[in-house]
Amino acid sequence: MTQPFSIAIHGGAGTILRSQMSEELKRAILADLEASVRAGHKILKDSGDALDAVVAAVKVLEDSPNFNAGKGSVLTNKEMVEMDASIMHGRALDAGAVAGVRHIKNPIELARDVMKHSEHVLLIGEGAEEFAFVNGHQFTEQDYFFTERRYEQLLSMKEKGLFALSESKYPDDKKYGTVGAVALDQHGNLAAATSTGGVTNKKYGRVGDSSIIGAGTYAENGNVAVSTTGMGEYFIRKTVAGDVAARMRYLKEEVSTASDAVIQGELKHMGGEGGLIAIDAHGRHHFAMNSSGMYRAVIDVDGKLTVSIYADE
Ligand code: ASP
Repeated sequence: MTQPFSIAIHGGAGTILRSQMSEELKRAILADLEASVRAGHKILKDSGDALDAVVAAVKVLEDSPNFNAGKGSVLTNKEMVEMDASIMHGRALDAGAVAGVRHIKNPIELARDVMKHSEHVLLIGEGAEEFAFVNGHQFTEQDYFFTERRYEQLLSMKEKGLFALSESKYPDDKKYGTVGAVALDQHGNLAAATSTGGVTNKKYGRVGDSSIIGAGTYAENGNVAVSTTGMGEYFIRKTVAGDVAARMRYLKEEVSTASDAVIQGELKHMGGEGGLIAIDAHGRHHFAMNSSGMYRAVIDVDGKLTVSIYADE
């Protein structure tokens, strides 16, 4: 008998208003989410490792202009793209992460290579890129990442002297667009991956939770895999992904109880908006969010695909 396997993904949480969502954008987002979760699920079905499944799923979203990661990354105050990503495999608690990389098409692959081919967990900026080129990653010009939409967002944020979420003409501008995936494979391995461009108009080498193991990403076999999205400063201070894993490990809470306790509890009380996706050791998934929506999809242990946008779906 095959062991249970499942995969869940997200494309960011935040304010997503039905009244402002165009049919065209909705169709494009749903298609990307489905393509992503299917790419990961195929690997699991073929008896592959959860790590490869989450990388494949995240890559699809990094290559789309519709999410704040890879191609669609938001711009910094200096009109650059600076991306963060992390990955964790639950068997031996191996992890890899990169922060502030500017010329890497798929930061999640680089995070995986940091885990597999270095003795370190987190590499930043120029050093991370030096490691990338030594390990065969291609140099990608900043021009590749430039999109009109992100430029407009940056101008709007600069004008208001704000950072993070903008209020320009796009219906999902008040949403964090980070992407992530969590999976359980047929061998009982749990893995999690998260990738982001961070927050619009960021300065001074700001790094969010998406490259911090225990904040944005966590995976532990026999327990849970978690990937988060939201205002990173809060997720770092609350060690969100690690806290969900700890509640399940010590309090023996269900994945849904532990995830909601963190996202709807202390994180919300601190003022932290966002959400997370999680899969437990039986392949049961949970989507937790304290915002009006989170782009998300799952193919569950019964092989059933669900793709959703709003919190009430
Ligand atoms: N968590 C990300 C960060 O703070 C943002 C996001 O979720 O889109 O960098």
